[in-house]
Amino acid sequence: LRFGNLADRLVLVTGTGVIDVNEGSGGEFPADPQAAFQEWNGVLAWAKEPGGCAVPFVETDLGPPSPRPRQVFGIGLNYASHAAETGTELPTFPTTFTKFASCISSPHSVVTLPSATVDWEVELVVVIGHRAFGVSEASAMSHVAGLTVGQDLSDRAVQLRPPVPQFSLGKSFPGFGPIGPYLVTPDEFDNPNDLAISCTLNGEVVQQSRTNDLVLSVAALVSALSSIVVLLPGDLIFTGTPGGVGFARTPPRYLRPGDELASSIEGVGTVITHFEAERPE
Ligand code: ZN
Repeated sequence: LRFGNLADRLVLVTGTGVIDVNEGSGGEFPADPQAAFQEWNGVLAWAKEPGGCAVPFVETDLGPPSPRPRQVFGIGLNYASHAAETGTELPTFPTTFTKFASCISSPHSVVTLPSATVDWEVELVVVIGHRAFGVSEASAMSHVAGLTVGQDLSDRAVQLRPPVPQFSLGKSFPGFGPIGPYLVTPDEFDNPNDLAISCTLNGEVVQQSRTNDLVLSVAALVSALSSIVVLLPGDLIFTGTPGGVGFARTPPRYLRPGDELASSIEGVGTVITHFEAERPE
């Protein structure tokens, strides 16, 4: 199943268009995507034989599938290729930071660059479907609503400002968390742990990998995070980025006004972000 957010309403995406979950269910489920995650089992049961008729839609009108998550986890250095390019050891427990939820934005958006040191990071993003605390790796996927595509946009100067790197603020400027275009349920994938993931900048491939290169799998991340924090419906986990980011290049390369960043994951879709210069007050 594929879901989307159209005008801040949860929609089921079919072959011919979208069905509004609230209207199609005769009002049984809330229109607000964030509220609907609280009743995710019911939504899934309804979606197998949905009422209502599908109407056409334009993909660029979609919003983030989880627009106001209560918690957003970011995982650092979770691909061997990215750990290598930054000269760090492979993690045995998730290296975790937050992206503050106000940075979550639409899969087709324009982001204002706050500086000349903003970098790209394509990531597989997990959307939590059921409260999870202390779950085993074996049962972790039953707590996952679906997978989507995200960009963990990062201002490296803020992230790495001396004396001690602190990731969360540098990754939380407005628009720094575009996600979408769809939430795809795990059962839609032959193998959700082996998906092509890529990122292009103005058409040039800058990142290209597969999610089977994740050091800690989606299930391992959900299990490990839930050993400490209660994961809540609609929460997001940005699972880490493969090699090919800009600041690890010689010389470093950063996003510029006018750039187009396209981030894709097999079976989910593409998030396309355009960048503009900060406008004078
Ligand atoms: Zn990241």
